[in-house]
Amino acid sequence: MFRRLTPETDRFRGYEVLLFRQGRAPSAVRRLMRRTVVFAPHRGKVGVFLPETSGAFSRDDLERAWCEQGAPAVQLPTADERVLLGRLIRLKVTPYVGYDDAWLDGVCLNLTCRRAPTKDIDSRVGRFLQTELLRAAEAALERFRPRLTKLPSQIVIKPLRQRILGQCTRDGEIRLNPTLLQWPETVLEETLAHELSHLVCFNHSPAFWETLTVLLPDWLPRSLCHYLT
Ligand SMILES: [Zn+2]
Repeated sequence: MFRRLTPETDRFRGYEVLLFRQGRAPSAVRRLMRRTVVFAPHRGKVGVFLPETSGAFSRDDLERAWCEQGAPAVQLPTADERVLLGRLIRLKVTPYVGYDDAWLDGVCLNLTCRRAPTKDIDSRVGRFLQTELLRAAEAALERFRPRLTKLPSQIVIKPLRQRILGQCTRDGEIRLNPTLLQWPETVLEETLAHELSHLVCFNHSPAFWETLTVLLPDWLPRSLCHYLT
């Protein structure tokens, strides 16, 4: 869950400020949560994650994070750039090669076209990036696997309501919002850990937070979970 800040604090050094609020964590857990600031330089947004619904927040928090994180200036993608897990990658299209293909080569996304570049390039790139997101999620799942007691029936990339990054269904399917491509990979990892914990405990009871702590022991300092469902 998140809400926008009041207009006078809506922007910070070119960033659009999004304020995230936590869900219903027990008060003992809330006390341990810290506020966290995550910059998405290639999206021009900054997420401020607060431990309390009405928690104190000031520009000083942003200024402090700005200094600690090395003053990450806004760098929006140009027409031939895309964002993959918070990283800028360059799109390189080669027409007239006789086949359609797509692959990543360092920070370059290569796309070949059978003949002339067609209008569906954006959808091909979108599909490719979502496949990369799924691959990153599956790699993260492998890292969590030794601590898991239940595995998801499957992980899918699926557009969800804008404020929701991840979702777990009753039959154990984990859905990840493609908007995760815009945020640093740590947000994907956090989202996945949260949803994997719902496989064990479907609500946000104390048992859920205990499960999450086993899975990702440092989640409290990072404290990004509270905008997930
Ligand atoms: Zn949840």
